[in-house]
Amino acid sequence: SADSKICVLGNPGVGKSALVVRFLTNRFIWEYDPTLERVYRHQTLLDEEPTLMEILDTAGYDDSIHQEGNIRWAEGYILVYAINDRLSFEAVATLKQHLDQVKKTSVQCVLVGNKVDLLHERRVTTDEGELLAQEMACAFFETSASDGGEDIPELFYELHRDIKRR
Ligand code: GDP
Ligand code: MG
Repeated sequence: SADSKICVLGNPGVGKSALVVRFLTNRFIWEYDPTLERVYRHQTLLDEEPTLMEILDTAGYDDSIHQEGNIRWAEGYILVYAINDRLSFEAVATLKQHLDQVKKTSVQCVLVGNKVDLLHERRVTTDEGELLAQEMACAFFETSASDGGEDIPELFYELHRDIKRR
C-alpha cells in the first residue's frame, strides 16, 4: 500500500490537473478533460527512502457522497485556488472546514495559489494567501503550472513528509 495518499481539491478550472501532470511528467498541456478523475501512483526516492505516493486528482463532481469518499480516502490535501479567481480563494476556506468535519480532526494540507504567470489578472494578493495558510496552519506556495513550475514537486513532497511525521 502507498506511503501517502494525497487528494488535490479546489474549484473547477484552478489548475489541479495541470499541477498534478506537471509534478508527474514535468510537462504542461493546455487542456485536460475536466471530468477526468483518477489516482496516479508516483514512485520515487525521497530523503533516501523508496517512496510510493498516491495522488487523487479530483474532478469536483457535485455529489457529496462521492466527494466524502475521496476525503476519507486521503491522508493529506492540496487545496488549490487560482490567483486570478477570487471565488476559488474563498472556496478554499470553506473546503478546509468541510475536510475537518468529515475527518473529525484538523487535516494536514498545503495551500496553493496557482496561475501566478497571470500577474496582470491577479485578484488575490500573496499576503492574503499567507494569512489564510497561517489560519489553516499549513504551508503556502504560489505556483504556475504553465511557467516552469520548479517548486511544484516541493509542495507534494512537503505534504508527504507532514503525513509521515504525524
Ligand atoms: P482543474 O479543473 O482544476 O483540473 O484545472 P485544469 O488543470 O484543467 O486547468 C484549467 C485551465 O487553466 C486549463 O485551460 C489550463 O491550461 C489552465 N491552467 C492551469 N494551470 C495554469 C497556470 O499555472 N497558468 C495558466 N496561465 N493557466 C493554467
Ligand atoms: Mg482537472
